Formats: sequence, structure tokens, C-alpha cells
Amino acid sequence: MSSLGKAIAYVREGIYTLYSIAKGHVVTIINLFRPKVTLMYPEVRWELPSGYRGIPSLPVDPNTGQDKCIGCQACVRICPTQLIEVPVHMGEDKKRVVDGYFMNIGLCMLCQLCADICPTNAILMSDRYELASFSREDMVYDRRKLNEIGGVWPEQPNREPKAEAEGHKTPVTSREGE
Ligand code: SF4
Ligand code: SF4
Repeated sequence: MSSLGKAIAYVREGIYTLYSIAKGHVVTIINLFRPKVTLMYPEVRWELPSGYRGIPSLPVDPNTGQDKCIGCQACVRICPTQLIEVPVHMGEDKKRVVDGYFMNIGLCMLCQLCADICPTNAILMSDRYELASFSREDMVYDRRKLNEIGGVWPEQPNREPKAEAEGHKTPVTSREGE
């Protein structure tokens, strides 16, 4: 390349650099006057939109003080990541007794299939999204914890449980040791 060609390339490069700097500053100045979109988390938290879908939960029925799980295993079968475990046994009266309920919540993809398939509306997608934990074991939520997250059915903010099927009655189940 001739010396004239080199000089033109340098000038072109210089102009482009100045243009880039000016463009960056324009973007910065414009954003100075825009409403802020960041929050001082965790002191300040997002107001979640209505219908926000967090992890599944097992709210308790205010009348019985228990959740509505009957141990039918429908959620276990439909869960795409196979993270639900519901141990059951047959009671003396030939009724299914739910021994526990476990969700490995770290594997949950929040698809809501478990809540949609549940015949008793036992599962409700909560608005819980803070799941950080120090161990994988802590990510396995038991029935008590899922009850705690679910609160009292159906009085959860932002939650809208499926309408009860007409004439549907929640079958009576019992917990292990109760
Ligand atoms: S949560 Fe619902 S779908 Fe799952 S085992 Fe209990 S009753 Fe069946
Ligand atoms: S929301 Fe989806 S992935 Fe999570 S437990 Fe339910 S079925 Fe499984």
C-alpha cells in the first residue's frame, strides 16, 4: 500500500473511532433520562405479574388442615423430568394412604403439567422463585415444605386454582403417622 493509501486508512480509522465514542455517549445520555429498570435486590423485589408461575406447591385445605393429595401418582407419571415421588400404601380399609410427597425442585422446569393433571387440585403453581441452596439434598422438598410454600388453599396471591369440577368431592386421605 502506498503512503497516501496508508494515510487515508488512518484518517478513516480515526473518524470511525470518534464516531463510535460519540455514539456510545449518546446512548448513555439517552438512558440517563429513562426510567430505571434495575432494583436494589434483595432489599427491593419485583412486583410479580398476575399469573406468574413459580415452583409447584401443595396448599392446605383450610377445612382439613391438610393438602388434597390422594396419592394417585398422576403427577409422578406426567412430570417430564421425573422429579416427583409420592410413596403410598394401602390402608386396612383399602384406602390409599399417602406416606409422603417429595419434589426434587432443582429439576423443575415449571411446565405446570403436574398441576393441570392433578384430579383434586392439590398442586398449585406458587409464585416462589428464589431456590438457591448450598446442597442438592436441600433441593428435595418434602410435603411439609411444599405445604408451607402453598399456604392455605386457595388464598395465595396471584394464584388462580382450576375451578373445581362440578360435583367433585375431595377424597379423604391420611398422612403417615397421623
Ligand atoms: S398431587 Fe395430585 S396428581 Fe399428584 S399424587 Fe397427589 S392427587 Fe395425584
Ligand atoms: S412443573 Fe413440570 S417439571 Fe415441575 S414438577 Fe410439575 S410436571 Fe414436573
